[in-house]
Amino acid sequence: MDFTPNETQQLITDSARQFAERVLAPRAAELDREGGFPRDSLAQAAELGLLGINVPEELGGVEAGAVAYALAVVELARACASTTVAMTVSNMVAEVITYFGTEEQKTEHVPRLCSGEYVVGGFALSESGAGSDPGGMITRARKTERGWVLSGAKLWITSGTDAGLFVVWARTNDAAGPRGISAFLVRGDAPGLVRGKPEHKLGQHGSTTTPLEFHDVELPDEALLHEEGKGFRVAMMALDGGRIGISGLALGCGSAALACARDYALERTQFGQPIANFQAIQWMLADSATELEAARALVLRAAWRKEQGLQFTREASIAKLFTTEKAYAACDRAIQVLGGFGYTREFPVERYLRDVRVTRIFEGTSEIQRIVISRDIIRRFDS
Ligand SMILES: Cc1cc2nc3c(=O)[nH]c(=O)nc-3n(C[C@H](O)[C@H](O)[C@H](O)COP(=O)(O)OP(=O)(O)OC[C@H]3O[C@@H](n4cnc5c(N)ncnc54)[C@H](O)[C@@H]3O)c2cc1C
Repeated sequence: MDFTPNETQQLITDSARQFAERVLAPRAAELDREGGFPRDSLAQAAELGLLGINVPEELGGVEAGAVAYALAVVELARACASTTVAMTVSNMVAEVITYFGTEEQKTEHVPRLCSGEYVVGGFALSESGAGSDPGGMITRARKTERGWVLSGAKLWITSGTDAGLFVVWARTNDAAGPRGISAFLVRGDAPGLVRGKPEHKLGQHGSTTTPLEFHDVELPDEALLHEEGKGFRVAMMALDGGRIGISGLALGCGSAALACARDYALERTQFGQPIANFQAIQWMLADSATELEAARALVLRAAWRKEQGLQFTREASIAKLFTTEKAYAACDRAIQVLGGFGYTREFPVERYLRDVRVTRIFEGTSEIQRIVISRDIIRRFDS
């Protein structure tokens, strides 16, 4: 098995790393302190093609593939998880329209997502009563002669303050659970769409997470993405790919924490020697390095399967479950290695820990990943 990135993958990785070091890293601490939405950084990311990494060139993307995408996300998240999460969601929206959209939908929306004209895309599935169980949603879209009328509310929408386009899921018929749900493309300036105030969160302060309200939002027939009543499939396919992105995001945070812990351990002396000489510290570094290396292999394997057109639902969930849990552990150990300083804003490791925590919750909690994995094993046990 060859783990060497090909030329395109290396190019995207290098470009993401340079962008992360030059633009994201110098702004990350302030963004975390002050909050807000990193519009300028995202515009620069769009110029480099980072909002359409796995999108065909003819739709404005760079068509570098799912592996290149995962590698790039790791590099970006090393510097700033907040900005990276907006990018991963936007890439996911561009990809899902590319996959399910009509020719008109693709040419109308995907180039605008890739170029940054829409700022970023948003993914509006969750509701106050429907998180792990989106089949319980109550937002509705009613058919009219002119198209659809959307009413209801969503919660927790990443980039909800600024996204220029949302994929919004709504119930369109009375079939129980997931079967009555459809997906719609809703522009950010649609009359009747009200963006709520961002939530106060533990971490990822530079990513806005807001409620959205839909007050009889009129949509044309062409706003329906894929077929009526088939929206759940759209959401699940998008989330399979999204979970590779979130795994990359977590891996970036964990890797940055390990690097910081290593550097500190070499610098800091106690008992007359660098703390890196103590076996207790060495073992923490070794455990993090081992787990993150394994996580990287899982992320790349899921991305590779996606790129080959193979089934990757189980692999994406395995990657997300393992990577997010182990990256969190790596951030926690990094704080331990730094001692008291690890607990302060003097060093970025406390930010990495706060930022990585949510990766075990969004795009399916760790418990939901275990459900997805076990269901798939029971259905097709092949290893
Ligand atoms: C910062 C942030 C950004 C987000 N961005 C978006 C976004 O852009 N778009 C979007 O649509 N959503 C978004 N979300 C929502 C996110 O996907 C949900 O929070 C997540 O799916 C969990 O749903 P919930 O919060 O309602 O928790 P619940 O579903 O209420 O779960 C609570 C607990 O119960 C557990 N649980 C639930 N069901 C089961 C079960 N069957 N078996 C075992 N345990 C179970 C869960 O694992 C969890 O531990 C975001 C959330 C956050 C915090």
